[in-house]
Amino acid sequence: MQKQAIAWERAGIQVGFVPTMGFLHEGHLSLVDLIRERSKILIVSIFVNPTQFAVGEDLEKYPRNMERDLALCESRKVDYVFAPETKDVYPSDASTFVFEEKVSAGLCGQARPTHFKGVTTICSKLFNLCRPTWVALGQKDAQQVVVIKRMIEDMHFPVEVVIGPTLRESDGLAMSSRNSYLNERQRIDALLINKALQSGASLVEEKDIRNVDRVKAEVMTVLRQGSLLRVNYAEVVNRETMELENEIKPGRSMLVVAAWVDSIRLIDNRLLG
Ligand code: AMP
Repeated sequence: MQKQAIAWERAGIQVGFVPTMGFLHEGHLSLVDLIRERSKILIVSIFVNPTQFAVGEDLEKYPRNMERDLALCESRKVDYVFAPETKDVYPSDASTFVFEEKVSAGLCGQARPTHFKGVTTICSKLFNLCRPTWVALGQKDAQQVVVIKRMIEDMHFPVEVVIGPTLRESDGLAMSSRNSYLNERQRIDALLINKALQSGASLVEEKDIRNVDRVKAEVMTVLRQGSLLRVNYAEVVNRETMELENEIKPGRSMLVVAAWVDSIRLIDNRLLG
């Protein structure tokens, strides 16, 4: 992969890159569409990255379907799928990791303390192997976007981030490979996450409320309707830094929620204003 990528680089061919863990859905494919035009070569990586899962998380049962993923990539004019094996990405004697210390500390990083270290490490490796000019990332994983942008800047990767909006199912549920875990009953409660984000946002957008606690209380009221839902966090943050906001600034502040439906952990967010 790297030899080929270096050859493209020398020939002045610009590469677009969409890193994924596979089990592709329209959300992933919208990222392909987002950078298809500007990329001479478009690469999608499919790799269920073990280092971003903690012991006891869903690494083994994470959904996989390579045949279907390859067909979807072909249908969307992806040039190359890079699907390495774990032993090649992480040789057994590998002892170097990339770790962002600030943005990754809160929110998902608090609940999953080793998660973002796995994310920044795999992204560094994939950037070095595929040498993209552009990488497309989904706003659905808002904290991940800020962490990766921070790492790109801090480590001087010559990569530009292009962010795509969150794609949703027709009922409003944010698309996610993990949605395949949800049974009918669990899905009803999962829908409350988007409903809670909408209710919180409507206070800001229709009633001009700028008080963080008032909006968080509204979000929690909706989330508490789900008997299977356990809230991890519901916060208002600055979308650029992920720092908690004291007051809502429309266009800058973002509502972020993480919750478990039984043992299935889901995240979603919505820009306010
Ligand atoms: P994943 O396979 O879950 O690691 O996601 C790969 C990329 O797809 C990440 O940049 C995600 O943010 C993005 N992504 C995941 N779900 C969605 C969605 N519903 N809409 C847009 N992008 C998404």
